[in-house]
Amino acid sequence: MKILKFGGRSLANGEGIDRVLSIIERFLLRKEKIAVVLSARGATTDQLERFLELAVLGLNIEEEWEAFKREQVAPRPEIDFSSEWQVLEQILQGVRLLGDLSPKVKDLFIAHGELLSVKLVAALLRDKGYEAQAVDSRIFIKTDEHFGSANVEQSLSNRLTEDYFSAFTGIPIITGFIASDKRGDTTTLGRNGSNYSASLLASFLEANEVLSYTHINGVYSTNPAEVREARILPELHYKEASEMATFGASILHEKTIDPLIDKRIPLRILNTFDEENEGTLIHGGNSKKPIRSVILQSDKGMLNLKGDGLLGKVGIDGRIFSTLSTYGISVGIISQGSSEEGISFVVAKNKLTLAHNILLEEFRKEISEKVIYRIERQDNISILNITGLPINDFSPCFNALKRNNIELLLVNNNFDGSNLSIVVRDTQGEKALRLVHQSILEDPKIINLAVLGAGQVAASFLQQIVASKRDWEHSYGCSLNVYAIASSRRLLLDREIDLKGWSLRLEDGLVNDGSLSQIVGYAKKHQLENLVLVDCTASSAVVEDYSYLVKNGFSIVAANKAAATRPYVKWEQFNKSLEKNGQEFLFGTNVGAALPVIRTLRGIISSGDRVKRIRGLFSGSLSFVFSAMADKGLSFSESVCLAMAKGYTEPDPRVDLSGNDIAKKLLILAREIGVKADLSDIIVEPLLPEQMNDLNIDTFLAQLSECNDQFIYKQERLGNEKVLKYMAELHFEDLDNCSLSVKLVPVSRRSLIGQLSGSDNIFEIFTEAYADRPLCISGAGAGAAVTARGLLTDIFSLRMTKR
Ligand code: ASP
Ligand code: MG
Repeated sequence: MKILKFGGRSLANGEGIDRVLSIIERFLLRKEKIAVVLSARGATTDQLERFLELAVLGLNIEEEWEAFKREQVAPRPEIDFSSEWQVLEQILQGVRLLGDLSPKVKDLFIAHGELLSVKLVAALLRDKGYEAQAVDSRIFIKTDEHFGSANVEQSLSNRLTEDYFSAFTGIPIITGFIASDKRGDTTTLGRNGSNYSASLLASFLEANEVLSYTHINGVYSTNPAEVREARILPELHYKEASEMATFGASILHEKTIDPLIDKRIPLRILNTFDEENEGTLIHGGNSKKPIRSVILQSDKGMLNLKGDGLLGKVGIDGRIFSTLSTYGISVGIISQGSSEEGISFVVAKNKLTLAHNILLEEFRKEISEKVIYRIERQDNISILNITGLPINDFSPCFNALKRNNIELLLVNNNFDGSNLSIVVRDTQGEKALRLVHQSILEDPKIINLAVLGAGQVAASFLQQIVASKRDWEHSYGCSLNVYAIASSRRLLLDREIDLKGWSLRLEDGLVNDGSLSQIVGYAKKHQLENLVLVDCTASSAVVEDYSYLVKNGFSIVAANKAAATRPYVKWEQFNKSLEKNGQEFLFGTNVGAALPVIRTLRGIISSGDRVKRIRGLFSGSLSFVFSAMADKGLSFSESVCLAMAKGYTEPDPRVDLSGNDIAKKLLILAREIGVKADLSDIIVEPLLPEQMNDLNIDTFLAQLSECNDQFIYKQERLGNEKVLKYMAELHFEDLDNCSLSVKLVPVSRRSLIGQLSGSDNIFEIFTEAYADRPLCISGAGAGAAVTARGLLTDIFSLRMTKR
């Protein structure tokens, strides 16, 4: 025999009920022996509860009541529910008069959801020619008097059920959820209890399978409404399923699994609306793979008892729990440090006030004597219940939570390692849930980016994201999502910005107040995880706010050189704040765009090799100017104008010609090898006479040819074998003796540096290992497309993107 159970949504008017009938019919056509267990249809139980609430308040509900009745009979208007309506209406009237409601009356009232449901479905099946009969489970499912969630008298119910069905003919359509006590009064088994009824019947009638038809595709690894990546678990062991049920997976009633275990009756969760789907099979055999799941519960509250007077005191804990149990309050997670200076535990949210008050009363004396300082209640907490993650494998999860600033209020594991519970603040619950799910089920991680700057680099960066998003998901298991884009004036905020046409939408965006607080606030409000700020600006104001970002859980990836070249003291402070907050700052694009300069240097240093000297051409624009002079025989001014025309310089070429930008890169490299230098420690040979810096740009360009002679003179003295290059150079003796310079240097035409053409950069690194011939990195060192690539390289080097 098979038990088919249908849930409320499956039985709703319209598509649901039609499908239910055809599913039942299919079993009957195959001549399978079945018993059908039904919930109340649609949201009937909720509606009935609501009618009672309104009746208690004495409100008139005439219209809604009539609508309710119409809906119940809709599939078969001739059906006679008059006796049911009579009972229900009498109760409503009584409750309205009294203005009060007992749990017993409530059970009788809401039990009618199921009674109406079986009567209707049995009638519909009889219309189709099947011998279906509505069965009232109150006859044989017997419970105690715990109205609202009564406990089943197992052996009595077992015997009565067997007796009842031994003489039964036809197809039983049985009420789930409802039962009766020994006086015959109606009881209910707790919300969502018809699953439990189905498995009780399966056990009593020795069925070989329970098929539970719901409106979803099975049991998920977490709540799909909260985590997009939630996935169906094809198989679950009884133990795993009951753990998940206890921890709030609403699809399974807490007690559902119990009756199935002894007789090893499998339970399959199926979707009425998607019959192709195989759902989830819950059974007692060996699962292929232990499953992992995580459930967020927000119906709990926490109590904390504090006081160092508790140290070594015997009996306090005992009193806490016995007091609570006198009032029928059950305690969830319990946590106590070994010093016993406090104890924290979790109770149901609706019991929190009661629990708090009775403990304040119980410990009045200890509180007045300051043995206990205080008993605090914490309403706004959520619990993450993780199944199948041994505590030893918890560290990646823990790191992800920490990096994302999730405050762990309590952590608790059970002894056999099958469950781990974490208490967090409500405001961080969903974010924590997503992070745990990402970590334990190895979903693609979502990295949430806020992009500062809307110029060419940002545009290229965003375009590259669009082009490669899919590939990254496959190859790295990592997905980049942009939730903020800011120009200096405007700000676009959206959980998932559509990167097509972003620039137009940015124009209509919010006014950017420049503070970054909107960007931080949005991430908090929407509980976004794995935050990265991508700084594509050149703003020195922004970097003043970097620490604020880091404190709020952001890592930073920057093309902006302003942070890494700040005065050393500030740079050091910033690095400390990164460390303290577990965040990272990557700025590989500061030196040579996507060229692996900083990365290579870090590799060399971590290998134990020692850097002796670094030199090269660090500026694409100046590299171009000097090779145009050497190779094409152009004058200095002609070369500068050509570089300008090709877009290789800043709009005002003096920015490049000042050598400052090169000096900054040199400074960054020096700091990488541990030198505590500042920009002022770098000797920069100026290419232009001082007074030219004050001219307006046109006058400057008009006068630029006056500089040509000095270069001609210098080049003539060098002869043909050598050429002039504007070279950055670092000589390292030890941390206190390191010289840094940017100056004109003659080099052999045949050397690597001498041969470099166009706007390429070159970096030569001499170390103990590379003593005679340097390690050399060369290629395009600027440009929007390569800079954007470099930013992406940095993003994927962040620890948060790793598994
Ligand atoms: N009708 C009851 C409820 O909604 C029982 C069930 O659906 O399983 O809670
Ligand atoms: Mg229901």
